[in-house]
Amino acid sequence: MVNIVIFGAPGSGKGTQSDLIIKKYGLHHISTGDILREEIANQSELGIIAERFISKGQLVPDELIIRMLAEILDKAPTEKGFIFDGFPRTLEQGEALDKLLKEKGTCILAALNLEVEESELIERILKRGALSGRKDDNLETAHARLKVYYSQTEPLKEFYKKQGKKINIKGTGNIEDIFERICQSIDRIIK
Ligand code: ADP
Repeated sequence: MVNIVIFGAPGSGKGTQSDLIIKKYGLHHISTGDILREEIANQSELGIIAERFISKGQLVPDELIIRMLAEILDKAPTEKGFIFDGFPRTLEQGEALDKLLKEKGTCILAALNLEVEESELIERILKRGALSGRKDDNLETAHARLKVYYSQTEPLKEFYKKQGKKINIKGTGNIEDIFERICQSIDRIIK
């Protein structure tokens, strides 16, 4: 199985690039942000709790997210592999993911780290908010999310670096060029 984590700050293009990756490589997309937004739309028990955190730009507690992901992994097709988008977001989630995949006899092959500077991230988030109406894409929440990213998610860079799995990808320029850089890295690891 080819299991890849796509990693980066809010607005770094994880979702956009994941869509292109799944089309080309046939991987199964798991986006915790998309799943949570669906739970909120359905006003499920999890959705109602998650909304309180998401609207403030905070992370949904690890315990809830890890349980949600374990259930999704159990039901997901396993022929080709997964692209994890927006998960893991904390060291605890990273460790839990390794454990869950190990139980299935597989592991993460690479963590693609999309690098974009902060001023551009804010610009992209505001643009997306204006286009999609996503409630957490406003200036105040964007700053809160970035702060959370730097304090809680960035330590995962070291986690994947230590495992020899971190691949830095320049996340600026046009979408096709960024995708081309990603493909070169994926082709190298699956060879
Ligand atoms: P972005 O990367 O632009 O912040 P996402 O759609 O990945 O967008 O996530 C939106 C929000 O959903 C996050 O700010 C967070 O509150 C919540 N969320 C998504 N994935 C996780 C996760 N793995 N752990 C905790 N919270 C999460």
